[in-house]
Amino acid sequence: MTSDKRVMNTTRRSFLRIGAVLSAMASVGKATAMSAVAPSSSAEVVVKDINPGKPFILTTWDFGPDANALAFKMLTEGRSSLDAVEAAINYVELLPDEYWVGYGGVPNEVGETTLDAMVLWGPTHDVGAVGCLKRVKKAISVARAVMEKTQHSLIVGDDATRFAARMGFEETSLTNITSQKRWEEWAKKGELSDAFNPEPFSEDALQGHDTVGSIALDAMGQLCVGCSTNGREFKIPGRVGDSPIAGAGAYGDQAVGGAVATGNGDVMMRFLPTYHAVELMRQGVLPENACKAAIKRITDRGYKFGGGMAAIRIDGEHGGAQSGWENEGFSYSIQTKDTATKFPVV
Ligand code: ASP
Repeated sequence: MTSDKRVMNTTRRSFLRIGAVLSAMASVGKATAMSAVAPSSSAEVVVKDINPGKPFILTTWDFGPDANALAFKMLTEGRSSLDAVEAAINYVELLPDEYWVGYGGVPNEVGETTLDAMVLWGPTHDVGAVGCLKRVKKAISVARAVMEKTQHSLIVGDDATRFAARMGFEETSLTNITSQKRWEEWAKKGELSDAFNPEPFSEDALQGHDTVGSIALDAMGQLCVGCSTNGREFKIPGRVGDSPIAGAGAYGDQAVGGAVATGNGDVMMRFLPTYHAVELMRQGVLPENACKAAIKRITDRGYKFGGGMAAIRIDGEHGGAQSGWENEGFSYSIQTKDTATKFPVV
């Protein structure tokens, strides 16, 4: 693999950073090969020849297999993991009947659907994210624009919508008949958002979930991690959950692998569970045990919450864990050249 090839698959910002890192490394004559779980010794990590030619994509929940199928095809055509993660997540964001991701679901207290999404590009550790994005359907694509076109990592609310419009995204209502009806039924009861309830130390009454999280490695060994959600039903307007927070909803490290989370983000984001899991994997802990440990850190503080995680190392070793979701059907699916498998997390 030549450095030119690596650079061709990067973003504008990545181009500059990778160029700087590669020339710095060349000047000190350092080798670039490292073991899959070796600690990174510098803030910037160059693309390494780990697991070359063995692309994979992991996506959470029941939409995982279909999302993976279309995104994996892109990987086999030589497209980057960034393109693949964006395509997998766009697929779920645009599903007309998917209530928990994208438009047409999870209205907030005043009946509006808002979106959170994040993407992390392994080769340069760039992040782009949007929180409480309104009236734009492809939240992960707006997050990608934040990453590629700006120095910012997170843009929120109406300003995220204005940013999206500047980047050429179409503004459109995120409400459909399902979300409208659901909100009308709830609003009739005249209740406050359950976010005003006490913290969940005795039980987590939250029912909804389904954030889509994807982790992909392309044929050039480049890692990308992303996630997208419409959050929590009847949330207080302006609420931003865990998904657009790097280390909470999703995290990755080019030298190690990635992790994604779903569930009660208001609780989970306080513990940065995906960062925790990736750091444990860096130390050699298996992905399943790393997810279990990250979840245990939360339950050890007394929280009762419904949530799940999945993690995968760049050599393909993977695992997941859940809390309070024994019967919720949480799963993640992985597609590689040879296999497409769904893994229930019980
Ligand atoms: N984690 C998401 C949030 O709290 C929702 C979910 O995955 O259930 O915004």
